[in-house]
Amino acid sequence: MKKQLLLLIIVTGLLSFISSCNKESGYKTLIITGQNNHDWKTSSPILKQILDETGLFSSEVMITPDKGGDMAAFNPDFSKYKLVVLDYNGDSWSDKTNAAFLDFVRNGGGLVIYHAADNSFPGWKEYNEMIGLGGWGDRNEKDGPYVYYKNDQLVVDTAAGPGGTHGKRREFIVRTRVADHPVMKGLPARWFHGTDELYSLLRGPAKNMDILATAFADSAAGGGTMRDEPMLMAITFEKGRVFHTAMGHADEGGGPAMQCAGFIVTLQRGAEWAVTGNVTQEVPFDFPSAAGVVLRPDFKEITLEEALTKLGDYDIAKSTKYLTCLQSHIRNAGGDVGKLLDLEKQMVTILTGKDATPAAKKLLLRELSWMGTEYSVNAIKGLVTDPEVKDEAEYALARLQSLK
Ligand code: ZN
Repeated sequence: MKKQLLLLIIVTGLLSFISSCNKESGYKTLIITGQNNHDWKTSSPILKQILDETGLFSSEVMITPDKGGDMAAFNPDFSKYKLVVLDYNGDSWSDKTNAAFLDFVRNGGGLVIYHAADNSFPGWKEYNEMIGLGGWGDRNEKDGPYVYYKNDQLVVDTAAGPGGTHGKRREFIVRTRVADHPVMKGLPARWFHGTDELYSLLRGPAKNMDILATAFADSAAGGGTMRDEPMLMAITFEKGRVFHTAMGHADEGGGPAMQCAGFIVTLQRGAEWAVTGNVTQEVPFDFPSAAGVVLRPDFKEITLEEALTKLGDYDIAKSTKYLTCLQSHIRNAGGDVGKLLDLEKQMVTILTGKDATPAAKKLLLRELSWMGTEYSVNAIKGLVTDPEVKDEAEYALARLQSLK
């Protein structure tokens, strides 16, 4: 008995040690905010949630003094971090802080530039090199060319004129430009982005910069340049990597621009690339396509457990996102018989449960008709007498028995 108790204490201690390690693991990330012409009190906690959700990052938000405050008091120890995320558009930092920040990026620190952070520090030469392109703050031809795509050609345009504008907010299509870049690998060629400002006429040094994705600023859709404007950029600055997303204007609760699964996932992937030069995250099932916007109101991917629980409540008027989630798990299981059987068992549990709606049963029967095995046959036989799903059950049964 004593031995068992001792063992229990050791195991419990070990488990709590492991879980506390997990809490501490992840790339230490510093999100800097506190001054912005945007609602940074909304956006910064959301950025933290989006990054921490991956399990790869452990983020903290640092708030600078208010505008006009004593910026000498803002003096973070960058050496403690692997990644810095700027949700900042405000007063210049002290020379000492600028130097420390430059050292951080030069020596391989990762940097993410989010939305209006590319408006910040117009007079800081090295900062403009890090962000590649920027806008507003009296940026013009002295700061570098406009860079965009026109008729599928990359254009570096030295014309005179101001940097930075956007038309009316709208949904727009984002288009991949460097499909084999780690950030973009596996993402669709085109996808719909939630209602956002389409930053246009950005200009800057554009050195060591890949434009990963663009969006067409159609003048018919609320004002636009009729150019394919850079939305996602990857820049190297000495040993440092910078991921720049021009998207994600924060509205109440983040709004459609921040809730967009495309914004969330590219931010997560871009941040990982900025730290390591690689991306290990899989493309999630709900990444949007050119068919329409996908929002994640709570910024999280739906888990399989949640999808299976909610799928039972399905009716015709509801979104098929839980089915899509299940289908993507079936697809990802590939030919793994064990994984497929595990999914099949869970599907049969819902199918034979008391609470599943007829519409949910129909969806499950349709899936099982092609991916099911002998395991499903008895459960499906039991549904042949159910008038609401009789046709689907008979069809599934015929398919499964023809495979024998
Ligand atoms: Zn904005």
